[in-house]
Amino acid sequence: MEFRTIFEPFRIHSVEPLRLTTEAQRRAAMQAAHYNVFSLHSRDVIIDLLTDSGTGAMSRDQWAAIQHGDESYAGSPSWDLFKAAVQDLFPFTHVVPTHQGRAAEKILFSLVGGPGRFIPNNTHFDTTRANIEFTGAVATDLVIDEGRDPASRHPFKGNMDPEKLEAFIAEHGRDNIPLIMLTVTNNSGGGQPVSMANMRAIREISRHHDIPLYLDACRFAENAWFIREREPEFADRDVADIVREMAALADGMTMSAKKDPLGNIGGWLAMNDDELAAQSRTMLVLTEGFPTYGGLAGRDLEALAVGLHEAVSHDYLRYRIRSTAYLADSLSESGIPVVQPPGGHAVYIDARAMLPHIPPLQYPGQALTVALYEVGGVRGCEIGTVMFGRQPDGSEVPAAMDLVRLAIPRRTYTQSHIDYVIEVCQRVASTSAALPGYRMTHEPPALRHFTAQFEPV
Ligand SMILES: *Cc1c(COP(=O)(O)O)cnc(C)c1O
Repeated sequence: MEFRTIFEPFRIHSVEPLRLTTEAQRRAAMQAAHYNVFSLHSRDVIIDLLTDSGTGAMSRDQWAAIQHGDESYAGSPSWDLFKAAVQDLFPFTHVVPTHQGRAAEKILFSLVGGPGRFIPNNTHFDTTRANIEFTGAVATDLVIDEGRDPASRHPFKGNMDPEKLEAFIAEHGRDNIPLIMLTVTNNSGGGQPVSMANMRAIREISRHHDIPLYLDACRFAENAWFIREREPEFADRDVADIVREMAALADGMTMSAKKDPLGNIGGWLAMNDDELAAQSRTMLVLTEGFPTYGGLAGRDLEALAVGLHEAVSHDYLRYRIRSTAYLADSLSESGIPVVQPPGGHAVYIDARAMLPHIPPLQYPGQALTVALYEVGGVRGCEIGTVMFGRQPDGSEVPAAMDLVRLAIPRRTYTQSHIDYVIEVCQRVASTSAALPGYRMTHEPPALRHFTAQFEPV
């Protein structure tokens, strides 16, 4: 019989001290940051759950690989190792290395986007949407209805709705849709997985209309683990095999190596299309670097090659997914509304449900984010109307959901850190009726959540 306790499948090798602060210090820091947690100094944060992007701990073997990095400008052996590790899981013909995911998106969409083009996704991540809209193209989310219902227990809430996709293609015409994207797991939709059955169904549609299918594969390993746990056909399959099967359904991918590949920086664009790959490399040398290193140092390429291998370890993934569920279940048992079932990399608190007295255009997610920091030094991230409310036509409308994401950096915090986070959330919940809404006092033109300034209403 299995033991109930899921412990961290590693021991601590090097420690990084946390700086403890008082509530008064945090209130002053929050005010100085104009109530935007992106403007805080990270030394003023105790538990940093802003993002799981590039914030994880590298392993002993990754640090050793860093020493092995070869910084040759062209044809470095570190590139060969990296490319082989990528193609072992994602056997696309061409791999184009970039400094992070959005650089891959920028290259891809400057080639296939533009006015009059339409790009469907289950849910576009914020940088994906911004890179598409920057070219004048339209980014549309076609997630299943359950994916927009925080209380729905559908096992694959990241799925794209095949009927919505068919209707979308009929409306806009296949010639105006350069590709279909699937984000695995669906980050902005709650870290929810996409089933293999859904990928197959979307693949059928893509094949039928001759529109390429691309994966935004940032959390491919977590998605594959969910497939293994929730789709009976895959119960005994190796996660690496499931990943290969996902890749085999697609024509290409974008990747942020700051997520599941366990890196602190990195990304890539991969595809089978020779012509598009040649154009991508031309763009790459303009903005990132030579095709055998892109935006990365040889040592980064080496660390990622090792990280990709570690990312598909079953012991690691079991712990990763179970520890995220532990946080979600504990909050839920305390009466705090969280998106169900919990996603892979983060727990999403339903701020609109928790703070019903704050209207969406006064940003309930922002209000909760500020309170978690002030009360306990916990930094989360608003995923709601602040992030998605401003429309390309200049109007502002409430986002589909107002969530606060507590993202879990990989292999970084222990269970007692998470127990502290649970206690902070419970304390905020006990005084939630007194929390104010916010108004924006400064709004930048794109990706406004990063640098906007606020004041309490
Ligand atoms: C992080 C992320 C990106 C962008 O990657 P960066 O490395 O942050 O530029 C794109 N899509 C998804 C789903 C992501 O989570």
